[in-house]
Amino acid sequence: MAKEKEDSSLKQIIAVCKRRGFVYPGSEIYGGLSNTFDYGPYGIEVLNNLKRLWWEYFVHRREDVVGIDSSLMLNPTVWQASGHVSNFSDPLIDCKSCKTRLRVDQFLDEKMGANFSVGKSLAEMQEALHKEKFPCPNCGSLDSFTEARQFNLMFKTSYGASEKESFDVYLRPETAQGIFINFKNVYTTCRQKIPFGIAQIGKSFRNEIMARQFVFRTREFEQMEMEFFCEPGTQKEWFKTWVDYCMMWLTDILGIQKNNLKLRDHAKEELSFYSEATSDIEYKFPFGWGELWGIASRTDYDLSQHEKFSGQDLKYIDQTNNKKYIPYVIEPALGLNRLFLAIISDAYEEEKLEDGEMRTVLRFAPRVAPIKIAVFPLMKKDGLGEKAKEIYHNLMQHWNAEYDEGGAIGKRYRRQDEIGTPFCVTVDYDTLQDNTVTIRERDSMKQERIFISQLKTYFMDKIV
Ligand code: ATP
Repeated sequence: MAKEKEDSSLKQIIAVCKRRGFVYPGSEIYGGLSNTFDYGPYGIEVLNNLKRLWWEYFVHRREDVVGIDSSLMLNPTVWQASGHVSNFSDPLIDCKSCKTRLRVDQFLDEKMGANFSVGKSLAEMQEALHKEKFPCPNCGSLDSFTEARQFNLMFKTSYGASEKESFDVYLRPETAQGIFINFKNVYTTCRQKIPFGIAQIGKSFRNEIMARQFVFRTREFEQMEMEFFCEPGTQKEWFKTWVDYCMMWLTDILGIQKNNLKLRDHAKEELSFYSEATSDIEYKFPFGWGELWGIASRTDYDLSQHEKFSGQDLKYIDQTNNKKYIPYVIEPALGLNRLFLAIISDAYEEEKLEDGEMRTVLRFAPRVAPIKIAVFPLMKKDGLGEKAKEIYHNLMQHWNAEYDEGGAIGKRYRRQDEIGTPFCVTVDYDTLQDNTVTIRERDSMKQERIFISQLKTYFMDKIV
């Protein structure tokens, strides 16, 4: 029953995203391309707001962080050095009858209990599968699974125009390595002194075995990552600082409800061999708790590997203390599309009104909302439309605003509630007499009357 409720709330979120122009299924008029999504006019506004707010709080407001934008395709040796060629894989099985492909670890966790697969080798997972004889979840066949094997998640493509000269490259599976290979460039050209961070926002690609749960897990997605370089011995302190900072950003800046967030420390057997500590900030998605933000203490692994494979000296020279070392790294890695799903799940509400009617409302924080203000004339005629347009044109110089003159006023309010617009301004016959308008606030639905000349100050105060 609880599962049905969860599934239905994800369905409702997907429906409102499509209905109101946040997210459309990818390549829809050609029958789609599974698990790809296109963001519509309101969706892109939310994504841009999230990116802007991340950049503002992780780069502009930090004197110890700078940003870069590295290439999507890197020299293939980068991925050998980072370990992605040999290790970036998930364990899979195929059903021999219906050809359904499954991730063994996730399949076993669903069947045997959460975290069953943590720390288990491929052989141990294989053994559990044989012992339990689970049927295929798609066709029900018994004992029809192939042996479990590792599947590398990186997308390969051919680089170069002629067959003779082209070679294989990978689309980056994370933005982090583009930062590591530019560490020396940044610290020598931008006068950065340790401790300092390099941030990047950009697309990543992973050929996920089971892309699913709407935009939670897709093969093409966007990441917001930062590598924070610090002196060995100080990493524990910095790890805590960044975990707290990330949590603060989610709750205080984006307005995500605290009870929908939790911190999960990775157990020892879950950690990558080079990682000293990892904590995930998890969000309570409609289908259950899931990783939103991974924060890892990555030691000096990445820079040491790049030093080894490139033959370049990537050590930092601390001139004040006369020291030379490879810095340790704290990495907060966030997925933009997962954050979008968290934001919209958090904001989504179906509310029963006093008159018994239902309304769907997206209670975005004003700074996250795609449209900040909607302006309506009560009627198009008698000069109300012209007056409302004049107000709209003034407000749009400062905020992303929308003008709507179609249909009953109640319906226009409902539409803006579903888009998550925090304020609606209505122009009526009194406006023409006394230059006042009605402002209706989305969450309380309370209305107040103010002078047109006060609108700018009013919104400056409310939309930060
Ligand atoms: P998961 O365990 O869910 O596969 P991960 O631990 O491999 O994620 P990281 O490599 O730490 O993820 O990537 C950092 C962040 O990038 C994740 O916390 C998540 O928000 C996002 N992310 C990773 N893979 C995907 C994906 N396939 N689709 C959407 N977002 C993703």
